[in-house]
Formats: sequence, structure tokens, C-alpha cells
Amino acid sequence: MVSSINKYIFCWAVVLVGFLLFSAGAFCQPKSPNIIIILADDLGYADVGFNGCLDIPTPGIDRIASNGVVCTNGYVSFAVCGPSRAGLITGRYQDRFGFSRNILLAPKDSTMGIPPGEETLAALLKRAGYKTGILGKWHLGAHPSQHPNVKGFDEFFGFLEGGHRYLPKEWDLNDITEAKSQYDGYRTKMIRNNGIVEETEYLTDALSREAVDFVKRNSSQPFLLYLAYNAPHAPMQATEKYLARFSSIVDEKRRTYAAMVSAVDDGVNNLLNTLKYLKLEENTIVFFLSDNGGPTDVNASTNKPLRGNKGDFYEGGIRVPFAVQWKGVLEAGTKYHQPVISLDIFSTMAALVKMKPKNEIDGVNLIPFLTGKKPGAPHDALFWRGSNSEKWAVRTPDDKMVIINAAAQLYDSKIDIGETNNLLEINPQKAQQLQYMLNQWKKLLIPPAFLGLLEDKKYSELHPNRFTPNK
Ligand code: CA
Repeated sequence: MVSSINKYIFCWAVVLVGFLLFSAGAFCQPKSPNIIIILADDLGYADVGFNGCLDIPTPGIDRIASNGVVCTNGYVSFAVCGPSRAGLITGRYQDRFGFSRNILLAPKDSTMGIPPGEETLAALLKRAGYKTGILGKWHLGAHPSQHPNVKGFDEFFGFLEGGHRYLPKEWDLNDITEAKSQYDGYRTKMIRNNGIVEETEYLTDALSREAVDFVKRNSSQPFLLYLAYNAPHAPMQATEKYLARFSSIVDEKRRTYAAMVSAVDDGVNNLLNTLKYLKLEENTIVFFLSDNGGPTDVNASTNKPLRGNKGDFYEGGIRVPFAVQWKGVLEAGTKYHQPVISLDIFSTMAALVKMKPKNEIDGVNLIPFLTGKKPGAPHDALFWRGSNSEKWAVRTPDDKMVIINAAAQLYDSKIDIGETNNLLEINPQKAQQLQYMLNQWKKLLIPPAFLGLLEDKKYSELHPNRFTPNK
């Protein structure tokens, strides 16, 4: 009798110790960390506190930097919205599958978007058992076959187009079937999955509200939240609540821009508060970045000290504010200076959940580099191709080459962040090395698969029923 009681106690002790060991292990290195990607739209490199912004306080966004790592050389794979997002969501240079132009609103064109053979981060994480949600700007195709719900997202709240008006009273079209031109897409009502919803809040506030709600509803399971704010992309629209914070900014456009950024910042702050309240900080990776550099004339952003703007392959077009936090894993308040790219987010998550992507991906798992376990640079080189092959760029850890209309320029990235001193004539051998790397990369690419925003008129001529609803 005594012996059987001892055996009983012994068995339970083994179970208990096993459970504690398992819990401790899980605590140290979560097997399936949540991931939140916060993507700003057309945010300038210098317009966040962690990159030195003085006139627009961003205490919420800066929390990610102080909780984690600022990637000072953080890039996106293209200098405008659509292709940059295609790279981010597939983990592959978008020119591999012809997504080389800023997409047109073409609701009846199934080729205008991500080809069926490409796997999105959402689809990969769904295979790993994640709940997946996207909020905000999709901009990866408006045909039903390109809908976020088809591309791996369980939940979608937002809009399909490349930009949107921010005030609900201006959403005077029910959906894209009522659009008659490209920018009519900015006037549609919000969509929740496949249904139209009546939204009443300022768009940025609505997206922030939905983000907090998504995290609260999914706190007990691994999740991906892709929070794709369209702010501070034009049109420049803000509410009095945010404008009032910037009465000291004289320039009206800059004041509105500041208010729009401040609204995003409030949303980020609320989201981080939610993670903290739910004790999810150590089990959640949070990335913050912009989809491209600031178009300074359009929205009064600033990319200083970088050269160039949105659309350029100078740093101002492709190097963006980039920070990541993962409490307990990444050292707080640190900076990482080697070049990294938005494509790395896919690779990082694929490695963490130990899932093999369906296609060859171009990023690397950033965690060992950001923790210092892996020395050296994550990438030998990063590459960019213009929509019509009119320009190219290569960035290695030390150097950068920009080619515009077949004329090459070479810069020393270690000391010349502003790309002011062209070293091509001084160091032609270096340019040859970079050209060789670029030529190797070009072999992976296919031609653009569709006409883009700059060919809006031509596309409409070729597709006269582009906006005619199907009878
Ligand atoms: Ca953008």
C-alpha cells in the first residue's frame, strides 16, 4: 500500500518537473512567437524620434526602438508602395515574379497582383497554425483572386487600393465596382473580409482600434498581424485632435503630415500597451518600417540626411525607418548597422516556425545577427531594378552603386550616407565588382508582368471595360 502511494507521488513529481522544465524552455525561446508588422506609408527616414526627428514627437514608435533594435541601414525592396509590399509579403525580390510596377486599380484583371505560385508570409504562417490578419492598405491586387482572404489572411479590415481618403464622410462609393477611374478607389467604404462595413472613425484611428481588438481576440494563439497604415501617404488629411498638437508648425502641409504621423504613433503606443497588458511582449516580435522613402514635395516628409525621395534608388527612396523589438531576446536600446531588408522579415519568421517556404526566398533570419550570435553581414549585397530597367542599385556592406540610364555612380556607404561623392572614376574596379554581382542577380528576374500606375492611360485604352461592372 505504502509502496503504491510512493509510486503515485513519484509519478506526479515526474510529471510536475517535466511540466516546469517544458514551461521554462518555452519561456526562454518561444516556439511560435507572434509577429506584428507595422508598415507606415511614405514616412520619411528622418520623421521618427529614433532617427532624430525633432518637430514630430513619436514616443509610441520610439518604444519599439528603445525596447529593441534600430536597423540604421534598413531597406525595402522598391522605392514605391506596390512592389515594396509584394517583396515584403513574399520574402522574395518582387522582380522574380514580375511585380515590378506600382499596381493599377484593375478589379477585373487577375494578373494585376501576386501570381498564384507565390506564397505569402500569411500563407506560410497559416501552415504553421497561426491566425493571420491584415489591417489597412492591401495594394496587391483588387481582383477576387488577389483578395487578402485568398492570399493567406484569415481576417481583413481595410481597403484594396493603393491609397485612401481618411475621413468617412468622403467615402461616397460603396465599393470598387462603382469606381470609374484609378483614384476613385480612394473613396470606397471599408471592407471587412468580403463585406462592406459602415466605419465612422478617422481611418488611422479605425485601423489602430482594430489592431488592439485583433490582438485581444487572438492572445491565446500564435498570430500574424500585418498593420498596414496608409498614413502618412497623401491625401493630407487629419483631425483636429491631432492637428492641435502641432499649432507651432507654420507650414500647413508639414503640420498636417505631423498630425497624421502622430495619429499613427498613438495607435502604435496603444498596441504596445495592449501587448504589455496581455503579457505578450516576450512572445511577440514587432517590426516597424515604412514601405518606401518620403515623397517630400507631396507630403512634406523629410529623409535627411539621405539623398532623394520616394521613387529614387538613392537612399532617400529605399532606406527607411526600421526598428524591431522582441523582449527577452533582442537587447533593448541597441543599434544594428549592417544592411538589412524588408524581405528578411519573411525569412526570420520561416526560420522561427521551422517551416520550409514553397519558393526560394531572398532574405535571412535576422535574429542571430541582431543578437550578435552571428558576426558579419546578413547580405553580401542587396539589389533593386527599376520598373522599366531604367535604373538599378546595388548595396554591399561597404559600398553602393546606382545606375541611372546606364550611367553608374559609386558611393562609399560607410562614410557618405548622403551620396554626395561619386567615386566611380577613382575606383572603377569596385564598380566592376558590383556590376558583376548585379549581373548575377539579374539572371533570377523576369520582365514586368503588368502595366503600372505610370501607364494608367495606356492600360485603360487597352482595357476599355476596365471599370465597367460585369452585367
Ligand atoms: Ca508608400
